[in-house]
Amino acid sequence: MKHPKKENSILCDCAQHVNYPLAGNLAIPFNTSLPHTLLKRATMKLTFLGTGDVRQVPVFGCNCRACNTARQNPALRRRPCSALLTTTYGKLLLDGGIIDLAERFQPGELSAILLTHYHVDHVQGLFHLRWGIGEKIPVYGPEDTQGCADLTKHPGILDFQTPLEPFKPFYLGDLKITPVPLIHSKPTLGYLFESEQRQLAYLTDTVGLPEATTAFLQRHTELEIIIDCSEPPQPSPPRNHNDLNSVLHIHQTLQPKALWLTHLNHKMDEWLLDNDLPEGLYVAQDGLEV
Ligand SMILES: [Zn+2]
Ligand SMILES: [Zn+2]
Ligand SMILES: [Zn+2]
Repeated sequence: MKHPKKENSILCDCAQHVNYPLAGNLAIPFNTSLPHTLLKRATMKLTFLGTGDVRQVPVFGCNCRACNTARQNPALRRRPCSALLTTTYGKLLLDGGIIDLAERFQPGELSAILLTHYHVDHVQGLFHLRWGIGEKIPVYGPEDTQGCADLTKHPGILDFQTPLEPFKPFYLGDLKITPVPLIHSKPTLGYLFESEQRQLAYLTDTVGLPEATTAFLQRHTELEIIIDCSEPPQPSPPRNHNDLNSVLHIHQTLQPKALWLTHLNHKMDEWLLDNDLPEGLYVAQDGLEV
């Protein structure tokens, strides 16, 4: 879906879309506006805190167009992949790779932390947060005997729960959470969050999806997806993360109501400077709410 963009904005003029003004003067070169029907879901809102890969955007020392654009316009930066899910139960942090967690959140503000896996860019912020004082924060995640350094050995205020089992749902308040296995170089879980109004799947990091995960998600007709799209289209699928071709295949198989790309690297951003996405696919940005 193409929309005319207003000068100095990412915005389209379509009355059906809510627009996201940006700091600075540069336009985000692709469409991040969302269908109005997907907004204002009071019972479950997801805020992207970080949408980058392990290198983040801009990449240190890189002078590609995407990195230079992000240096000029901080709204285009991509921090480590992470999100905040606001529900009737409370605020759930999805992954802890953002390094200034202790400044972003007040004591008691986070009801729980859910980890997809123990790669550094998904847990590095917890190494500082754990030495805080006060109420413990429950942390849920996959079984991983190696974990990341001494995080689970010396958890501080982080209260690591029994590792989650794939396809065994649990509830936080009336929010249903089902962990689903993903395909990655470390044990990794995606999550399907279900409230009365929404079925939101958070699927990163992964390359493709296991058959069982695909079959499980196919049974959900109101599905919205947030998914790893680290790389622009490649001749063959990357080893550890989706490229856009893998995401398009998943989109076609699951036919979600909407799909947002996250965990983008700078090359994917550069590709987006020259190309549009098919209808129903959106690019996440740090700070975007869906
Ligand atoms: Zn990652
Ligand atoms: Zn670059
Ligand atoms: Zn990873």
